[in-house]
Formats: sequence, structure tokens, C-alpha cells
Amino acid sequence: MTQPIFLIGPRGCGKTTVGHALARARHFQFSDTDHRLQAHEQRTVAEIVQAEGWTRFRELETLSLKAVTLPDTVIATGGGIILAECNRQFMRENGVVIYLQASVSALIDRLEAYPKAEQRPTLTGKPVREEVGEVLAQREALYRDAAHHIVDATASPDRVVEQIMTMLCGAAA
Ligand code: ADP
Ligand code: MG
Repeated sequence: MTQPIFLIGPRGCGKTTVGHALARARHFQFSDTDHRLQAHEQRTVAEIVQAEGWTRFRELETLSLKAVTLPDTVIATGGGIILAECNRQFMRENGVVIYLQASVSALIDRLEAYPKAEQRPTLTGKPVREEVGEVLAQREALYRDAAHHIVDATASPDRVVEQIMTMLCGAAA
């Protein structure tokens, strides 16, 4: 199977970490919609949002998603990619969509331990601890709706990759 693999889930669920490891394991390329967007725009997400607002950022994000969608590629997506119905449909139709589902407490622990992972402006203006649960509650149904498969991303990165590899073998059989 050479379809791209889209990893979806909230900030801190491990899309970048697991994505790199999964790409190595499958001999796929790795792409990240946020990285592509920032490199293309020569601006950070925070700068884009500050200058042009979230709506414009979301439009650019959709373009970025399409640009990185290539065969034999693992694609780490931005946490809010699933907000647009067109993005959910595009991913479902053009690849395998995997939701990395982690508990709110694991997400908070990771974001607090590695604050650099949050280079985005806050979505609600609240501290990470409050924002994570609130944003996940709003988006959980959309992650589920978009996903072909859901994996337990509270496990170690190696274990998450194993789960995905097993699932993909099963799906291909
Ligand atoms: P995302 O790309 O989804 O925002 P990252 O891959 O950047 O998430 O991970 C956020 C932080 O959590 C990183 O510091 C990473 O090392 C850590 N991390 C990611 N996945 C796991 C995991 N399965 N178990 C423990 N820590 C993890
Ligand atoms: Mg990431």
C-alpha cells in the first residue's frame, strides 16, 4: 500500500514523534502540514494568526495539507485540521487517517514538560491545563469522524508505532 498516512489528534498527542518513527518503519517520507506551511510562508503559525487571523491560517492549512499529500508519505497534521469538513473528507478519500488518542492528563503532562512543543498561540487564552481538556472536548467527535483507525497514543512511541504497523498489516490482508 502506498497511500499516504495522515496522523490526526490534538497538540502533544505525538503526531511528529510517532510520525517520524512510523515513516522510518515503513520506509515512507515524513511531512508535517505546519512545517510546510511555515516554510512556504516564511512565517510562524503565531505570526500568521496575529497578522491575518485564524480564518486565513485555516485556508493556508488546507493548501498545505494538499501540497504534502503524496504517496508513501506519513503526514503529521495540525491539531485543528479536522475543523474543516473539506479537510476531513480530503484525508479520508486520499489516504489512511489515524487518530492518535491520548488522555487529557497525558497531553497536559507532555505539553508542560516540553513547552517548546507549543509554538502556537493559545486558542482560548487560558492556561494549557484548562485549554487542553476544553479543546479536546470540542474536537473529539471530529477526530473520530475523520479517522479510519484510532490508536492508544498514551502508550510509548514505539508501542504506538507497533499498534499502527499491526493495524495496517491487518487492513492490507
Ligand atoms: P504533536 O506533534 O502531536 O504536537 P509531538 O510529537 O510534538 O506531538 O509530542 C509532544 C511531546 O510529547 C514531545 O516532547 C514528545 O517527545 C512527547 N511524546 C510524544 N509522543 C509520546 C508518547 N507516546 N509517549 C510519551 N511522550 C511522547
Ligand atoms: Mg507536531
